[in-house]
Amino acid sequence: MTPSHPPLMSLEQALEQILDSINPIKDVETRGIMDAFGRILAEPIHSPLNVPPYQNSAMDGYAVRSADLPASGNTTLELIGTSWAGTPFAGEVGEKQCLRIMTGAKMPAGADTVIMQEDVQKTDQQITIGDGHKAGQHVRHIGEDIREGAQVLQPGKILKAAELGLLASLGIAEVQVRRPLKAAFFSTGDELRAVGEALEEGQIYDSNRYTIFGMLKGLGVEIHDLGVIRDQREEVEAAFSRAAELADIVFTSGGVSVGDADFVQQTLEKLGTVNLWKIAMKPGKPLAFGRIDDAYFFGLPGNPVSAMVTFYQVALPALHKLMGQTPHPPLQLKLRCLDSLKKRPGRTDFQRGILDYEGNELVVRSVGAQGSHILSSMSRANCFIILPAEQGTVKAGSKVEVQPFSSLM
Ligand code: AMP
Ligand code: MG
Repeated sequence: MTPSHPPLMSLEQALEQILDSINPIKDVETRGIMDAFGRILAEPIHSPLNVPPYQNSAMDGYAVRSADLPASGNTTLELIGTSWAGTPFAGEVGEKQCLRIMTGAKMPAGADTVIMQEDVQKTDQQITIGDGHKAGQHVRHIGEDIREGAQVLQPGKILKAAELGLLASLGIAEVQVRRPLKAAFFSTGDELRAVGEALEEGQIYDSNRYTIFGMLKGLGVEIHDLGVIRDQREEVEAAFSRAAELADIVFTSGGVSVGDADFVQQTLEKLGTVNLWKIAMKPGKPLAFGRIDDAYFFGLPGNPVSAMVTFYQVALPALHKLMGQTPHPPLQLKLRCLDSLKKRPGRTDFQRGILDYEGNELVVRSVGAQGSHILSSMSRANCFIILPAEQGTVKAGSKVEVQPFSSLM
């Protein structure tokens, strides 16, 4: 392959090749469940108990025997005590008796039905109830949520708030999780200055390192920021070696476009195996992917929007796989687009859009200018509008595929 004529590849093909070559990290650690937040579960979790573990009341009210419910008219029951949440009633509810019971409190022996407190008339040690109650109402049954022995979580699941609570509800204090992924990144380009430095003629601030940092941070990755590297052979080479030593995966931005003063590619050919692709997507055409020593490598395009789009659309599924996470394609909606969208057939477009309501209907509109250097468009947007390769210009009012940013992490 000659570097100046990389093959054009569909996004699907590129993704398939990349995902095929990725082996998930194997190292597993045991962590307390709070420390396991955001980590990837490495074992199946089976429930050691029934949830709920005992029959209990779903309401504050009175536990009664369904046999005592009146078919019509009223009936009066003798109140024999209370079952509190945490302090069950020891005795049994007999014929024409009832028990005061709180939400979550254990159902007493003999009773099988709960009457809401709003539905009774209470006089000293008696209650009166009317008809229309159903046998067994307002009772939570043993194992209704989870049966003992059932598998509740699969390996590959990311542990978020609901999972921590679920584990806790089963009395599970520790779990096996994959170790965190380590990522290193740097920017390349003589025109780039770090924030805090003064800009001279022909220079710009490096923003890609910050967007890459933010996107990785959202994934709970251990981050190594190697700064801005000048377009000089020795510096680029040293940066790559150091990055590969520190991390499981290395990201760079810039220096992968065809015709660039391009040490990135030459260095990579020396240190590892790297493919430079022209992907049929817009923005984000040039992309390098491969290995440096034991680390995976993504060379993202330099243009700020291209770097973000390629990260989300190409690198993110690879990161998920590397972390050991079960694949989960992002949410995609088909919505009416209020604006016309300029597009030429040939590449898959990831235009920036804004999800909005028009009356009751969820619709999408364009953020406007779609240049790959217009980073403010990413900040104004809350979704990608995905236009398939063969698609031409979209007329206002047509349906388009929309991918909310919120579903991308
Ligand atoms: P390159 O891929 O190096 O040819 O860069 C393409 C465009 O992206 C040029 O306009 C660069 O100035 C710009 N660019 C490259 N790297 C960065 C960066 N880290 N932050 C902001 N802009 C960048
Ligand atoms: Mg450059």
